[in-house]
Amino acid sequence: MSRIPLIKLNNETTIPSIGLGVYQMPDNSSTEKSIEFALKSGYRHIDTAMIYNNERAVGKAVNSGVVPRKQIFVTSKVWNTDHGYDQAIKAFNATLNRLNLEYLDLYLIHWPVMGKRKETWKALETLYDEGKCKAIGVSNYMTHHLDELLSLCKVVPAVNQIELHPFIYGSRKQVVEMCERNNIVPVAYSPLTKGVKLKEPSLVKLASKYKKNTVQILLRWGVQHNFVVIPKSSVTSRIAENLQIFDFELNTDDMNYLDNMNEDLATGWDPSDAK
Ligand code: NDP
Repeated sequence: MSRIPLIKLNNETTIPSIGLGVYQMPDNSSTEKSIEFALKSGYRHIDTAMIYNNERAVGKAVNSGVVPRKQIFVTSKVWNTDHGYDQAIKAFNATLNRLNLEYLDLYLIHWPVMGKRKETWKALETLYDEGKCKAIGVSNYMTHHLDELLSLCKVVPAVNQIELHPFIYGSRKQVVEMCERNNIVPVAYSPLTKGVKLKEPSLVKLASKYKKNTVQILLRWGVQHNFVVIPKSSVTSRIAENLQIFDFELNTDDMNYLDNMNEDLATGWDPSDAK
């Protein structure tokens, strides 16, 4: 079983450098089984959100005893309709209740909702101070959102979860560099481009050079940048193969090549223009 490297957060806690994303997985026993399989395979990090509507299944898997709860890093996120101080605290408690957990490892603002996000951040700071989540962070924050937050926060976000893969990296470089300057770990969502680029000929060529598949090349690129990667799969063979990225290394030329594949490809929503 692979040992998963940990990345230090800015508050001295650590996050496993790969996690299982569970977006679009249903709130049922098949999701529970997929997550339990992931835990048995070596995953120690699960990324969910209120809006994924599967926190109950995630909680059941985390509480199943396959792996002690303390060894699992659980992330969830406050949804756009739950912004504002009181509402965010309420949403967090509901999330914790659905997960049936005593604390979260990481709680994120899912999207920088205009007008309300500053109050929401204060709520996350309270939850953090009370020890209800071990770390707090943001998602979909671009440089202007981070500028605003860094000017007012008491707790600097530990992570910024944004879409990151070679086909968007060029247009996310500035925000990545800003995160790194401020000791905020970039977490790469949709690291497999939601599957759309897995047959790209140049990736296929690289995969055959390293005797890996294109998914493993994309994930390895992410971890070599010191990003946390959170690929989603419901298929056990894929969940297992997505973890096989710590036994090879992309050389500098190939990293540079991948760094320069930008197509501004946002596979889901794009926060660039969010005010
Ligand atoms: P990914 O880039 O992880 O791609 C997932 C797709 O790739 C699925 O269709 C999956 O299919 C397929 N896949 C996975 N592994 C393999 C493999 N080895 N071979 C072939 N196909 C494979 O997309 P997501 O958008 O789901 O992103 C990952 C996670 O990031 C989410 O689950 C969520 O946790 C987070 N996220 C956060 C967002 C935010 O706004 N904060 C936005 C989007 C995602 P299958 O399941 O059938 O294997």
